[in-house]
Amino acid sequence: MISDVLIIGAGGAGLSAAIAAQEEGLSVRVLTKEYPTRSQTCMAQGGINAALGNHGEDSIEAHIANTLKSAHGEADENAVVFMCEEAPNAIVWLDSIGVPFSRTPDGKIAQRTLGGASAARACFAQDYTGLKILHTLYDKALALGVEMLADKFLLELLKNTDDAVCGAKVLDIRTGEVQTYFAKSVVLATGGYSRIYGHYSTNSKISTGDGIAAAKHAGARLLGMEFVQFHPTGLKNSSILISESARGEGGYVLNSKGERFTNELAPRDELSRAIDAEIKKGEDVFIDIRHLGEEFIDENLPQERKLAKLYENVDPVHELIPIKPVAHYTMGGIEVDNVSQTSVDGLFACGECANHRVHGANRLGGNSLLEIVVFGREAGKSAAKRAKSLDDFNANTQESTHILERLEDFSNEIDFYQVQKELAELFYTKVGIVRKPSELQEVHNKLQEINTQLPRMGVSDTNKIYNTNLLEFLEFCNMLELAQSIVEASLARKKSCGAHFVAEE
Ligand SMILES: Cc1cc2nc3c(=O)[nH]c(=O)nc-3n(C[C@H](O)[C@H](O)[C@H](O)COP(=O)(O)OP(=O)(O)OC[C@H]3O[C@@H](n4cnc5c(N)ncnc54)[C@H](O)[C@@H]3O)c2cc1C
Repeated sequence: MISDVLIIGAGGAGLSAAIAAQEEGLSVRVLTKEYPTRSQTCMAQGGINAALGNHGEDSIEAHIANTLKSAHGEADENAVVFMCEEAPNAIVWLDSIGVPFSRTPDGKIAQRTLGGASAARACFAQDYTGLKILHTLYDKALALGVEMLADKFLLELLKNTDDAVCGAKVLDIRTGEVQTYFAKSVVLATGGYSRIYGHYSTNSKISTGDGIAAAKHAGARLLGMEFVQFHPTGLKNSSILISESARGEGGYVLNSKGERFTNELAPRDELSRAIDAEIKKGEDVFIDIRHLGEEFIDENLPQERKLAKLYENVDPVHELIPIKPVAHYTMGGIEVDNVSQTSVDGLFACGECANHRVHGANRLGGNSLLEIVVFGREAGKSAAKRAKSLDDFNANTQESTHILERLEDFSNEIDFYQVQKELAELFYTKVGIVRKPSELQEVHNKLQEINTQLPRMGVSDTNKIYNTNLLEFLEFCNMLELAQSIVEASLARKKSCGAHFVAEE
């Protein structure tokens, strides 16, 4: 089963890469554990940035300056310039393939202001921006003839005797079979790792960092793993996101006394810390959009109203929305160069699983959807270029080292679901918005203890078909692996920087 390009992950990044590679006239196969249209990209609400200036003045220079400022010196200026310069083309392309962007009365693409932006720069489709982009990309990829295989769980990357990646080993979720897919180039587009924070996260259950863990096993370097972005406005009880569009459209952040205590459009790291400090003083914190009026809310923020009603039992047209900051986006990931090449030959990466150094220590709202389209397409082109340039294909693979090979020896005395919950709690309180070196060390020690106990965990369900117990254990192992990378990177970075905020002991 050899293809020219194998893409793992069918979110916005994977599908953008697949379309670009297919347009090069190559055979492209996409494997994904979730059905493509349910990838986390569909949850993005607020918008995608491009300095179009359709709603007041804006410039590419301002977009670059805002992005670099928010990144706290951790971004690569060339990569940021490339992304911001490409942004208007990306919007024109998305528009041309059918993304139904909201429009101004004179028919231009509508734009709104998100945190840290000096202008109304985020293009949106109401507050369903990611969903509309994802589904349009999926239609386009299918129309071009990209082969799409769902219910395939990446276990490990295959490396050949030249030490290059030459494919992937996956678990077929429908049958329980382990399968091998060879390819001349492999692109990882498997999303981020915020689910380490369990239910203290806005992310879907699939964001368990599987691709990053597989890349780490294959010897790829990771970068910036300590930079985990907390979104200031998760719903208090469920952590479901109330999008930045609510503040972008004029919503206020209030404490229990009804006071506005912060700049609502500050970058996320600053606003999350301000809200966290208020909560630690014993205050409740809310978003207030009542003054925007029912008609405006239903036209521009319909999803926010639905989510608040469904998951917090409040109607934002008449009531305050209780919120708390929760883990939302992971800036760190697989280190890639400016053509999305990882440190391992044959392996490319894009989207939230990769670190293209465009977000640095703190991502700006609206820049992730932009990154997945711009660098997704670049990764597809780079993977295609490598596939075309290969004279011979070496499929002599090295021996497998995946945990699945050893699972029969695991005893299943300790409930890993319970350990996962404890780990999430520990991460939220000690590897969260404010971090202390002594607490990071405590978490580091705890991780070592969990690792020693791992052979006493395992799965109780021995079914082959749709064995979610097995999948969740494999995801738990991946998160455990990356939890260590986060804590080690956090301990190594002694000074505060963006989302990594170090407090005095
Ligand atoms: C609630 C919410 C709102 C957001 N709003 C915005 C916004 O308004 N603007 C913005 O710019 N950004 C926003 N973001 C961030 C943005 O949506 C994501 O960063 C981006 O969509 C990630 O895209 P991706 O393609 O990299 O990954 P994903 O969309 O997460 O896709 C990952 C893919 O990899 C597959 N996969 C994962 N593991 C495996 C495995 N083991 N085997 C096989 N396949 C696997 C999954 O099935 C999936 O298809 C938001 C995020 C959230 C959670």
